[in-house]
Amino acid sequence: MNQKPQEVSAKAAEATLIDECPEPLLCYSCKKVAINCYQSEHGCRLCSICLTCWLRLQDTAKSCPCGETDRPSISDEFLLTWTDCLPDIAARREVNELKFRCPNSGCGCPYSSQLKHLDRHLTTDCNFEMRHCNFCNREVQLHLLNSRHKDLLSESCCEKFFAPCPHCNGSEMLNRQSFLTHLDSCQARPVECTYSKAGCGWSGCLDELEQHCKDSCHLHLRLLNIFHQQEIQKLREELAKAKRLPEEKCAHTSLPEPNDCHNATQVPLKRRSGVTYNK
Ligand SMILES: [Zn+2]
Ligand SMILES: [Zn+2]
Ligand SMILES: [Zn+2]
Ligand SMILES: [Zn+2]
Ligand SMILES: [Zn+2]
Ligand SMILES: [Zn+2]
Ligand SMILES: [Zn+2]
Repeated sequence: MNQKPQEVSAKAAEATLIDECPEPLLCYSCKKVAINCYQSEHGCRLCSICLTCWLRLQDTAKSCPCGETDRPSISDEFLLTWTDCLPDIAARREVNELKFRCPNSGCGCPYSSQLKHLDRHLTTDCNFEMRHCNFCNREVQLHLLNSRHKDLLSESCCEKFFAPCPHCNGSEMLNRQSFLTHLDSCQARPVECTYSKAGCGWSGCLDELEQHCKDSCHLHLRLLNIFHQQEIQKLREELAKAKRLPEEKCAHTSLPEPNDCHNATQVPLKRRSGVTYNK
């Protein structure tokens, strides 16, 4: 079990640490946990990102980020190079045991684990990793690629994806656009009964609807009858309420006088007279 710790991928290196980082495992330059840690010749720990940046600044890479410039053994100015910095196996081993949040946590991935398991998660089962869609040649989150992105029924279906109609499973290969056109005539398209608003709970395929209507004409008539009676009842109640309205607003039982509270609350004159004379 004492094998050399694996180098962590650039993506996994973006993960955020959950635990607090022990002081000795901090990168000297960025003061964050030193992932893929290197050690400079005189013992400074640097994360691989900082070391790379530091070494790229060719002109200023005269010293270790800590400011150390003298190297007692040589009279030359101390110059930091890759060969001066070695992978810090001990630090890497410890950092790999720390617990991190998945770098895709910002997109919604709830996964967290020790750093050493993060790369396996990212390459195999992180639903929020971007994967290549072979149809549109774009990068899509894995969980979308396996669902909405390749589902003709979804509004967010990949526009280049094609498959047979999922309802009739016909021989024709359709993309989202041609599928929508096809739907109008697809006999296997799921539909509700024409009288669903009246209360018929039947649902089935379009090609069964006609037969259902033939079989259920008495049921439909009865439902329609009840439905219309309910509608009429509702209208009656609304009408009665409208007639009561002026009396409810005022305790007067006699006809309203000018300048009484009806005028004060500005009930429209037309409405009042209408109610009064249409009893
Ligand atoms: Zn760093
Ligand atoms: Zn240093
Ligand atoms: Zn993840
Ligand atoms: Zn696509
Ligand atoms: Zn179809
Ligand atoms: Zn029906
Ligand atoms: Zn009949």
